[in-house]
Amino acid sequence: MIKYDLICENDHEFESWFQNSQAFDTQLAAGDLLCPHCASTKVSKSIMAPNLRKKSNTSGALTEKDKSAEITQMMSHVREHVENNFDYVGDKFASEARAMHYGDSEERDIYGESTLQEATELIEEGIPVAPIPGVPDKLKN
Ligand SMILES: [Zn+2]
Repeated sequence: MIKYDLICENDHEFESWFQNSQAFDTQLAAGDLLCPHCASTKVSKSIMAPNLRKKSNTSGALTEKDKSAEITQMMSHVREHVENNFDYVGDKFASEARAMHYGDSEERDIYGESTLQEATELIEEGIPVAPIPGVPDKLKN
């Protein structure tokens, strides 16, 4: 079984278990994959990307409200930036990220899909990856 982080066309994020990656594709193609929030069948795997290298110096003095606004803004910027500037590597994400980390491949900014397990393995090997966030509904105005 694999667990995928999924996201629908309305940016609802949810998790679902599948027998294997083929089962995911089959269910998606058959329209059997529904967003639990809006019942949309336009569902895709949540995209993973390496951490952007810049270090953020967020102070701890922000209020909750400031934080929400900042996070919402940051999320949409990150996603847009990644989609415009990074190389899309699809489901080769884990192997590409690993090749770059070990110097087998030239370092560049990439994004793509990975399973939660692949992402966990990368993190355990000290390879920085991060999910590209959608914007949660509760943070939207
Ligand atoms: Zn949805």
